[in-house]
Amino acid sequence: MLEVTSIKKGIVMDHITVGNGLKIFNELMLDQVDYPVVLLMNVPSKAMGRKDIIKIENNIDIDLNFLGLIDHNITVNIIEEGKLAQKKKIEIPKKVTGLFSCHNPRCITNFDDYAKPEFELVSSDTLAYQCEYCEEITEYKI
Ligand SMILES: [Zn+2]
Repeated sequence: MLEVTSIKKGIVMDHITVGNGLKIFNELMLDQVDYPVVLLMNVPSKAMGRKDIIKIENNIDIDLNFLGLIDHNITVNIIEEGKLAQKKKIEIPKKVTGLFSCHNPRCITNFDDYAKPEFELVSSDTLAYQCEYCEEITEYKI
């Protein structure tokens, strides 16, 4: 069994809902990096039954808002010198900038390169976000 502390320096994303691990792996384009990465799927978990885990042996900046959109149950562990240095709890982001596009085809953010779409959370059950420009509601789907 691979231990969390088997990496010296990097990031471990734990408690990922089964099936989301691969999505996150792909979304973060971890198949294209030149440092060690591990995707563990269907790992037995006391709390969740099964879970996915991603280990990244490098200090990269991860957009926690983005992770929160995909799966807000994730725990992000920052590892330094082989030890757990920081544990971050992920939440559904209240505000999102530029992570997805507005559903309104006439929205300025869909054809003006300089207008980055900004959204405010209106429902955490459906991941519904309201566009700051046109007020259209967009439900985020992976
Ligand atoms: Zn809009």
